[in-house]
Amino acid sequence: LMDGYRIEGPGDVLQALVRIQHFLGWVPPQLRKALSERTRVTETKIRGIIDFYHLLDAEPTAPWVVHLSTNITDMMLGQQTNIDRFNKYAKKNPGKIQVNETSCTGLCEQGPALLINGFAMGRINAQRVDDILALISTDTPLDQWPANWFEISSNIRKPGPLLRHHVVAGEALAKVKTASPEDFILKLDHAGLKGRGGAGFSTAFKWQACRKAIGDHKVVACNADEGEPGTFKDRVLLDRHIENVLEGMTICGEVIGAKSGYIYLRKEYIYMYGHINNAIKKRREAGLLTEDFDIGIHMGAGAYVCGEESSMLDSMEGKRGIPRIKPPFPVDQGFLGRPTVVNNVETFCNVALLADKGLDNFRSVGCSHTPGSKLHSISGDCKHPGIYEFPLCTSIAEMMKACGGKEAAMVQVGGAAGRLITENRFDTAIDFRRLYSAGSMMVFNSDRQPKDLLHNFSHFFVHESCGFCTPCRGGCQMLAAYSDQVMNGTLQKQDEKTLLDTCKLMMTTSHCGLGKTAGQSIGQIFHHHLKAQKAENQEMAHE
Ligand code: SF4
Repeated sequence: LMDGYRIEGPGDVLQALVRIQHFLGWVPPQLRKALSERTRVTETKIRGIIDFYHLLDAEPTAPWVVHLSTNITDMMLGQQTNIDRFNKYAKKNPGKIQVNETSCTGLCEQGPALLINGFAMGRINAQRVDDILALISTDTPLDQWPANWFEISSNIRKPGPLLRHHVVAGEALAKVKTASPEDFILKLDHAGLKGRGGAGFSTAFKWQACRKAIGDHKVVACNADEGEPGTFKDRVLLDRHIENVLEGMTICGEVIGAKSGYIYLRKEYIYMYGHINNAIKKRREAGLLTEDFDIGIHMGAGAYVCGEESSMLDSMEGKRGIPRIKPPFPVDQGFLGRPTVVNNVETFCNVALLADKGLDNFRSVGCSHTPGSKLHSISGDCKHPGIYEFPLCTSIAEMMKACGGKEAAMVQVGGAAGRLITENRFDTAIDFRRLYSAGSMMVFNSDRQPKDLLHNFSHFFVHESCGFCTPCRGGCQMLAAYSDQVMNGTLQKQDEKTLLDTCKLMMTTSHCGLGKTAGQSIGQIFHHHLKAQKAENQEMAHE
């Protein structure tokens, strides 16, 4: 984490804070002061930055800090028992351990999961909690804990062309260099490559706009902040295909004429920092990264909203990740006001695949309007949770068959901010036309109720709303309060309409995608809840 690291100016504040937090467990006032003097950012602003990010602390923490994921799939696997166990110990041993809840650790297929002093651990059960607490009781340093507890499996269940593709460093780049940048943008266009971060925006259009933008320092930014509950496919690509990610980024740099590239890595994936850094160093040694175009790593610090590209850019600039007003779009004014292409990890892997294997190969998978494949992170009520690569336009029914989700009654596609698809609509395909997805598929059988999702997701949004605009800040609070009433059966008839009106208001007036999609998702799930409730009432009346 300290390899080649320097504090040079205001832009380094967040990265410095991440490192201080990592090594000390919090950010003491004297270091905030020193950082302020060094970067010329006021102490008040630095305090504001610390308070914005969930994984930074301005007050001393206990020597042991645990963050337990409360994502719905972890809760379905019995996480509440683990939380209760940790809390019981914390109560008996004041000052020894701090127990926090977090929304997603990126380990949904190997949950229940947690972070212990920032390091991820999956498959937590009562026995593991007891073993952890025994080591905490004796203050055994983390590096003396059994290494296998920290092993993160890839769980690739169904590989396709993308997961089978391992680029030889520089080969795909060399093929791009044989033609003009415009030729490769044309190829991207003919390949119909749509952004795999969930929005499905044309990659060719984005690259062309940035290439044409005015500015002599252009930037490539790789969004590796996958924080959408139920998503963990970028984790596997960064771990197993980092060379493909770097190759795709370098190709982008070549085509748009960029001077620098950054990977914005979510803090929960800090255990991969060394691995990614080594891959970058190897590329430098091979002369594939030079002074003309180099790549660095920016760490996030636990803020879901930073998955939104403009918040991510603010976070990369060392600030709180507040979504920007658009236009200007990042392709014109992105990182430090420079024209910037922001693409997802999986998109850059697709770029490397296309450059290496050619257009016909790329288009041979998927459907004519949306070629290529898509990675899906499948978790929840299925026999074989993990990573699945399907051709685009594959139906949910086929996916359920492959993952052993025979009993599936509902699937939440695209995370908490996505869409709930019920069994009668499982013929719907992920095609970036009718249905978009970054790749999260959370499966629920008929024992689960839409109100369980309503409750979990609405509280998730309260936690993650950045608080910048009123419709989202207040709306999320209202929706969570209503969802509590739904759970305990006290929601009044007249409040059903208010709940739906709140969702509509959020969809139309929120400043960024988080508030808009939160309103849309919660409103849709609430409709499903009302339908389920009606069916239940009719059944009871019939009986
Ligand atoms: Fe922040 Fe929510 Fe407003 Fe987006 S919609 S700016 S997350 S408060």
